[in-house]
Amino acid sequence: NRPVVCIVGRPNVGKSTLFNKIVGKRIAITEDSPGVTRDRIYSEAEWLNRYFILIDTGGLEPESEEIIPMNIKRQVEMAIDTADVILFVVDGREGVTATDMEIANILRRSGKEILLVCNKVDTHKVSDKVFEFYELGIGNPIPISAEQSLGIGDLLDEVIKHF
Ligand code: GDP
Ligand code: MG
Repeated sequence: NRPVVCIVGRPNVGKSTLFNKIVGKRIAITEDSPGVTRDRIYSEAEWLNRYFILIDTGGLEPESEEIIPMNIKRQVEMAIDTADVILFVVDGREGVTATDMEIANILRRSGKEILLVCNKVDTHKVSDKVFEFYELGIGNPIPISAEQSLGIGDLLDEVIKHF
């Protein structure tokens, strides 16, 4: 049985972009594409010969802030039920939001392995905003840029440690 890694986070933080980057194919539909059905999507993925199942809990459809909070809660619960490791993605340019806090509160109580992934850190210089995320109580924010492919290898090194 392959370990399962779930990506969670509020809309527009870059979950689908990260999913596509890790699986090396464009499967998840990012914000600018028209959506089809709302469902979680998954793929097999590999890092350093370690195979796992990756799930984008945001699903196929582009997400809007209006679907908060019911769908997000459902997605987070699904991730807690299914995942061996959860990637909690936040937006490193926007900083902490109320929805991030809500998600963090649910995740913290779950006792699951959670990695706090701080996306949209597009330059090698890490902005001060990243340090705000310590207040979520999830641990060290791991800076990445899914779009620019920065920090993905270090993130995956961390992921496979938890299998
Ligand atoms: P999702 O709703 O969490 O699945 O987010 P998407 O993957 O659809 O991305 C939302 C928007 O953020 C899109 O316009 C992406 O191009 C953009 N985005 C994703 N990753 C990055 C990143 O690393 N840096 C920047 N600057 N934008 C990103
Ligand atoms: Mg998405």
